[in-house]
Amino acid sequence: MDSVGVAAAAPDAGPGPAWQSKCPWGAPSTTSISCSLADVMSEQLAKELQLEEENAAFPEVVAAAEGPFITGENIDTSSDLMLAQMLQMEFDREYDAQLRREEKKINGDSKVSISFENYRKVHPYDSDSSEDEVDWQDTRHDPYRADKPTTTPRRGFIGKGKDITTKHDEVVCGRKNTARMENFAPEFQVGDGIGMDLKLSNQVFNALKQHAYSEERRSARLHEKKEHSTAEKAVDPKTRLLLYKMVNSGMLETITGCISTGKESVVFHAYGGKSATEGKVIPPECAIKVFKTTLNEFKNRDKYIKDDYRFKDRFSKLNPRKIIRMWAEKEMHNLTRMQNAGIPCPQVVILKKHVLVMSFIGQDQIPAPKLKDVTLSNEDMKKAYFQILNMMQQLYRECNLVHADLSEYNMLWHDGKVWLIDVSQSVEPTHPHGLEFLFRDCRNVSQFFQKGGVAEALNERELFNAVSGLNITADNEVDFQAEIEALEKMNEDHVQNHGKKLSTFSSDGDPPIYDE
Ligand code: ADP
Ligand code: MN
Repeated sequence: MDSVGVAAAAPDAGPGPAWQSKCPWGAPSTTSISCSLADVMSEQLAKELQLEEENAAFPEVVAAAEGPFITGENIDTSSDLMLAQMLQMEFDREYDAQLRREEKKINGDSKVSISFENYRKVHPYDSDSSEDEVDWQDTRHDPYRADKPTTTPRRGFIGKGKDITTKHDEVVCGRKNTARMENFAPEFQVGDGIGMDLKLSNQVFNALKQHAYSEERRSARLHEKKEHSTAEKAVDPKTRLLLYKMVNSGMLETITGCISTGKESVVFHAYGGKSATEGKVIPPECAIKVFKTTLNEFKNRDKYIKDDYRFKDRFSKLNPRKIIRMWAEKEMHNLTRMQNAGIPCPQVVILKKHVLVMSFIGQDQIPAPKLKDVTLSNEDMKKAYFQILNMMQQLYRECNLVHADLSEYNMLWHDGKVWLIDVSQSVEPTHPHGLEFLFRDCRNVSQFFQKGGVAEALNERELFNAVSGLNITADNEVDFQAEIEALEKMNEDHVQNHGKKLSTFSSDGDPPIYDE
């Protein structure tokens, strides 16, 4: 298990000291203090009581030193600072919101307005609150984009005779300057001048440009700092706050440490708390999958979600942060479908933004081994194979899903059976590449079990047909794949012509079945 800055001591290390009941990160528990005459007389007890009182007076000091994000030996008080900063930020935001309200009240509908911009606490570049972020606009079809000004040709003038206009013409120049404001950073507020026939003098334009650039540099510097700390602490401050809140609310007891850091996610182990969310009982041990919001690895996976019609309408309107949240959302929905079909997989506890809490597959903080890391007896290997064959069919038929990243890396061996995990990229079979993904899954599974000595293991083509119920007869990989692509194309053409997908594929001449 990797130890990171958020690891903590095991929570059940015997009856905790009295301050534990005050610790905001721990679950509220009542410790009854025994009280006999001997106790009353005991000097030891007096000392303890005093200590308890002191701790009660300064609970945050204790919390910072023993909170779930801090290791015992490596006491790190940066959490205090972070929390303080968070609170300050929250306060500043409220202050600014109030300013904005007053600004609005004073300005009303008046054409001339005053601005309290300079009194704001949170600079627009500091503010990356997801609540008030503006959706990223598809710049290819930006309806607000003003027409480009007519350019002056190389020779420096247009027109003839007395209608000649040079590039120094004040009107042309002014308009051009206004249009150029578009090139400033998107957060840079230039008013609605771009949309109207506004002529900006060179002097004013240059001053604005200078200011815009220095603000951009400032923003870049701030950003750099943030990225740096993210790498160091495994999760960014906002995610930490989300995790703190989960512990604080009693939903989680403690977050013990990191199980895995991948390119796209970090997974933590946690002990479940006592407070039930939405009527659900929290599992005793949880896995917290934090989808990374800073790295751009997700770009490579666009194709899974962009073409998933369930998310299609939303995709183009989203900014990167929201797209990452959508991955988490997708994993949640897919896990729920699998759970409903009775496929062994983590059970969803809660989704908060890009953080998904689910039941932990494993025991006592030790995650179940991946199939690639476990040595199974021949008998278990065979059992695992038939179980997976069955699960792939259930996934396809009952959940209407293709895992799309199925391999010995995403199957855990626990309690004598195989558990499927990591389904954020799973798609429906009618996804434009759904069948190709299924074929790749089949190849991974076949190869693993054939190498593992399971004589009954079907080859990848047989497995594909067995899972999908299709009857692709090609006896070599190239032709097989060509048929798969032809089926996918047929489905896409159908979508183009009829605006809806086939609900299932059919390759044996039967009329395709449509989703009504
Ligand atoms: P990634 O996209 O980073 O591969 P995964 O969902 O596969 O994300 O999680 C990474 C690792 O974390 C897994 O290989 C597994 O070891 C561990 N893990 C994830 N979810 C759970 C869980 N619910 N229970 C136990 N371990 C888990
Ligand atoms: Mn994985």
